[in-house]
Amino acid sequence: ESPAMDDAVVMFPSPAIGHFISMVELGKLILTFQPSLSIHILIVSAPYILHLSNPHVHQALLSISKTHKIKAFIMDFFCFFSLSIASQLNIPGYFFFTSGAGCLAASMYFPTLHQTTTKSFKDMNTFLNLPGIPPISSSNFSSAVSDRNNKAYEYFLDMAYCFPKSAGVIVNTFAVLEARALKAISDGLCIPDSTTPPAYCTGPLIVTNNQTDGDTECLNWLESQPSQSVIFLCFGSLGLFSMEQLREIASGLERSGQRFLWVVRNPPSDSESLDISALPEPDLNSLLPDGFLDRTKEKGLVVKSWAPQVAVLNHKSVGGFVTHCGWNSVLEAVSAGVPMVAWPLYAEQKFNRLMLVEEMKIALPMKEDENGFVTGLEVEKRVNELMQSDSGKSVRERTIAMKNAATAALSEGGSSRVAMSRLVESWKH
Ligand code: UDP
Repeated sequence: ESPAMDDAVVMFPSPAIGHFISMVELGKLILTFQPSLSIHILIVSAPYILHLSNPHVHQALLSISKTHKIKAFIMDFFCFFSLSIASQLNIPGYFFFTSGAGCLAASMYFPTLHQTTTKSFKDMNTFLNLPGIPPISSSNFSSAVSDRNNKAYEYFLDMAYCFPKSAGVIVNTFAVLEARALKAISDGLCIPDSTTPPAYCTGPLIVTNNQTDGDTECLNWLESQPSQSVIFLCFGSLGLFSMEQLREIASGLERSGQRFLWVVRNPPSDSESLDISALPEPDLNSLLPDGFLDRTKEKGLVVKSWAPQVAVLNHKSVGGFVTHCGWNSVLEAVSAGVPMVAWPLYAEQKFNRLMLVEEMKIALPMKEDENGFVTGLEVEKRVNELMQSDSGKSVRERTIAMKNAATAALSEGGSSRVAMSRLVESWKH
């Protein structure tokens, strides 16, 4: 190691888009605090599973070390298996947690929970008490951890066992949004048997300028709508519905009489591909109920496949958001001050619904049946509730309070700025 070497931070993102974009934002933020750092982003072409990418990570870290002093190796938490490589090379390893602090608290507590039972969550049918979060129904755990016999269960457990070995966890949230979960974490309640690493809440880290690409027709359409009158429906990078479900949504929206902007994709095909851009453009006339587009053309707009979500949420005509509760979408809605109806589809989204509805009180819940199906009646009811009722009003006020708290957290002296500068300062020594 030569004293003349420049300092570097190496980031190892997960390839999932929702994870990747927030890590890039984290890199940009770090640079605003210490522009002299060089940031290296590892893109590994080997599968991002288990230890297969570790030899590549090892090689990359060694090679960067020849010219730089690596101050931190920041892994997406899904890449936790590379922590051991950083440790071998005496590089402090950090996790970047792309969901909220409530989910982090539950993830940290997972090994403890695992030891209290021999059953799978899916077979429990009970409410569980975890530190820092509301009582959670066993059915609200993600499918990955619901079944002990699933490989993913082991993967998440291994991940959770790594938290105490990390130098810290950078969380894409802000203190006011999840105060109780953060306190449980910093009080050590979530990892009772070992050391809790420091949690740095530096969010909301969201993309603000990806919006002029692609289709802007919907932004023009929003220009002609009354203020806060439109409900936006969009379901992340992977959210797909069956034709039957699309038709229920359509009939619910039509009956509600609310103005809407709805992103519609083709139903899942038989191919295993998760790549939405690989799906053919939807044929709206055959997917949606007969005459729907015509009957609703004064009030609604259906967008095919993808909308510029951040720009839409920040448009003054948008007054509500039906979301799949992906964490980036949640933060984007909070930052825009748009209240939500929470309709979780995959990953940790049911957990997020619980946090949004019961802890943060910035969303109303969409209720599905045991097969995950939502009726048109439910869609109609929730959309109207959000846009017109007292409970909708209180969720809106709370969301605006959180928007202001997010702005404060990111301002000079705010909690997220302070957390980021603490982290960057710690690399100077
Ligand atoms: N997104 C978008 N337009 C769409 C669908 C998604 O711009 O039609 C963006 C959205 O703004 C967010 C990201 O894609 O930044 C999705 O991330 P999130 O964590 O909400 O969900 P995921 O796709 O990871 O489930």
